[in-house]
Amino acid sequence: MSSQWIAARMSRIQASGIRKVFDLARSLKDPVNLSIGQPHFDVPQPVKDAAIEAIQAGKNAYTVTQGIAELRDKIRRQVLPASLSDRARREVLITSGTSGGLVLALLATVNPGDEVVIFDPYFVMYPHLVALAGGTPRFVDTYPDFGIDVAKVEKVLGPRTKLILFNSPANPTGSVPSRTQVQALAELARDRGILLISDEIYRHFAYEKEFVSPLEYNSDVLVLDGFSKSHGMTGWRLGYAHGPAHLIDEMTKLQQFTFVCAPSMVQHAGLAAWEFDTSHWVEEYRGKRRRILDGLRNNFEIVEPGGAFYIFPRAPWGTGTEFVAECIKNNLLVIPGNVFSGRDTHFRISYAAEDRTIDRGIEILTRLARKGA
Ligand code: PMP
Repeated sequence: MSSQWIAARMSRIQASGIRKVFDLARSLKDPVNLSIGQPHFDVPQPVKDAAIEAIQAGKNAYTVTQGIAELRDKIRRQVLPASLSDRARREVLITSGTSGGLVLALLATVNPGDEVVIFDPYFVMYPHLVALAGGTPRFVDTYPDFGIDVAKVEKVLGPRTKLILFNSPANPTGSVPSRTQVQALAELARDRGILLISDEIYRHFAYEKEFVSPLEYNSDVLVLDGFSKSHGMTGWRLGYAHGPAHLIDEMTKLQQFTFVCAPSMVQHAGLAAWEFDTSHWVEEYRGKRRRILDGLRNNFEIVEPGGAFYIFPRAPWGTGTEFVAECIKNNLLVIPGNVFSGRDTHFRISYAAEDRTIDRGIEILTRLARKGA
């Protein structure tokens, strides 16, 4: 084939460094895997049952693009506060995962040359999707504490700034910015007329500080959320967006000509998922977070994360990539920080794993940290 078949935009999109670690995982025998960004628990039984019932009942055709009315209504009742309904009309759209919502949101809003503010470290998809939409990322460095400093955000704003992409609890740092920080960011976006997108996929996993959505302070925030992390449904591709009605309408138009709709039986299962109480898993993950922090704190520099299921320690020696290479040689899979960042100083551990896997990981990491000392 001719290399000219490939569009120029593809050169702005690199394969995820996480994939490389996953490929390696396949070649290792019984690796200690702390690299995976998905819960270690399976989909709840009532949700599985609902999906099977939906298939058996023949709910296998396209649904309306915006998602089945029952699920949209359920979500709408909870996420659209009545007090917002007057001048700031908002709507709900069911998407193919939170990723689907991100794609629609960025393609519906970013013009070529527009700038998108992204906090570094960031979720791997963000810069690539901005590039796909023809935009330019403007990174705001959040090291060393991974908090949100609004003064730093203000510095990167310019005439081409279209939107700010915000994620709390965050992947890969686990950071949960304070109410004051979230309020300041929400108000900055509102005052400057910039769209704020809030990726809330980890909102259930907030362990200390309460989770605060910027929507509380800015009724024009576009919220993206989904069932992947809260219900262990990563392979089912179910998410939702809620935001200003006009923006949701534009995203719906685009969904019609791209994803068409989220999988039908999964939307029906989403009704059961919405009712399922996941708080026992959050409690379990609170314990796992304590376990990994206690196991590593003496040998690693770690900012205690408030949420999600990741920690992002500094590499005890070498770059993030060098330290992770040594981990992999020792049968431990973690992800180098430069996959999520312009810096190569840290690495990501996912503690969404069995306790014995976490303990084996702590043992290997402790040994390797001391080796470099
Ligand atoms: N946002 C963040 C911050 C994530 O970590 C992920 C998944 N790793 C997603 C979005 C995408 O999730 P989904 O499976 O719903 O597409």
